[in-house]
Amino acid sequence: MKKKLIIFTSIIVILLVLCTCLLAIKPRFIKEFKDILVNAKNTITVKKSQEYKELKAADKSKKYYKSEKNIKIPILLYHQIPTEKSNREDYYLCTTAKQFEKQITGLKDLGYTFITYEDLIKYNNNEIALPEYVVLLSFDDGYLNNYENAFPIIKKYNIPISIFVIDDCVGTNGYFSWEQAKEMEDSGLVHIYTHGKVHIPYGNESAEIVGDYIPYAHSHLEEELGHSTSKVFAYPYGSYSDVSTNTLSELGFIQNVLDERYNTSDTLNFNCLTRIYAKQNYNVYSILKLILF
Ligand SMILES: [Zn+2]
Repeated sequence: MKKKLIIFTSIIVILLVLCTCLLAIKPRFIKEFKDILVNAKNTITVKKSQEYKELKAADKSKKYYKSEKNIKIPILLYHQIPTEKSNREDYYLCTTAKQFEKQITGLKDLGYTFITYEDLIKYNNNEIALPEYVVLLSFDDGYLNNYENAFPIIKKYNIPISIFVIDDCVGTNGYFSWEQAKEMEDSGLVHIYTHGKVHIPYGNESAEIVGDYIPYAHSHLEEELGHSTSKVFAYPYGSYSDVSTNTLSELGFIQNVLDERYNTSDTLNFNCLTRIYAKQNYNVYSILKLILF
């Protein structure tokens, strides 16, 4: 009788532990299941589309000068590349290294060509031609995990990226140093540009501040890296105004905002290049939905 009671009590305890565990993982389980469904839907929608069929059939070796064909020029925007998935809702600031690798290898496998701002400048001047399916990868803020996690991945696949650094933050806690920036540049795959002297919404600032802080940050960057660089700037928070745009345009800066839209060669505007977040929960088909249609 006593033995039966022990077995019965043990079963109840095990059941209680199991129920507690299930309840604890339920929200995560439901979320991940939902992600799988959304991804599957994205895949089916994209693969059924005419554009996707054209992409698969396109001659990826054929190149066009700016005046020859209107092509889409998406610029993807990343921030942190951590190894662990973020619990934060604002996924757009974090993309795990694993997901980043999946996104870029997915695009590479589909025949996308990864270009740089240097390519874009030459293309805009009609100095080079570009294939029809291109994508530019940009990173804001200059986080240390870009150096630690993204850099080994882009080296593995030989993919160029551009990083916008905040002058006051370089080498401080959580951000890579000028030495690490130089090491990345030396690979030939990383271009470093400025994200401003400080991380503020420059759209709210006067022409004097904008005309002082951005050129200062650019010159200091050139000094630290030991060579001249193209004047390319990305607005913190995507905050810009007519004042900031005009000021920086007069100073010869190419300006980037965030607009969840791709650029096209016919309407390429160097005073307002738009960028698209490559979020943590995006698979390659979610990205294609944003850059292909
Ligand atoms: Zn930023």
